[in-house]
Amino acid sequence: MNATIVEYTDEKPPENLYPERIVSPTKGRACCARNMEQIGGVTREETRAYFYRRCRACGYTVRHFVSAPPPDSPGGLWEDEQTALLKLVA
Ligand SMILES: [Zn+2]
Repeated sequence: MNATIVEYTDEKPPENLYPERIVSPTKGRACCARNMEQIGGVTREETRAYFYRRCRACGYTVRHFVSAPPPDSPGGLWEDEQTALLKLVA
């Protein structure tokens, strides 16, 4: 199940039912550039990782692919390791 959860349609109003489903207009508009926000976390597939970005104004949603997988524990992993090393040295 690697298919996108985004349903692109202009027949229904935009809806954010993440992580089950997101209903998005088929096209972005001028508002999107300044209103895109990340929805949920990063999804990793075998060779790529992505997260969803959705426009607050119109609901337009895209998958944003990230070039490199993020660290497993963003925000503190390096610090924790360094602290542990310092303790070992001391
Ligand atoms: Zn928009």
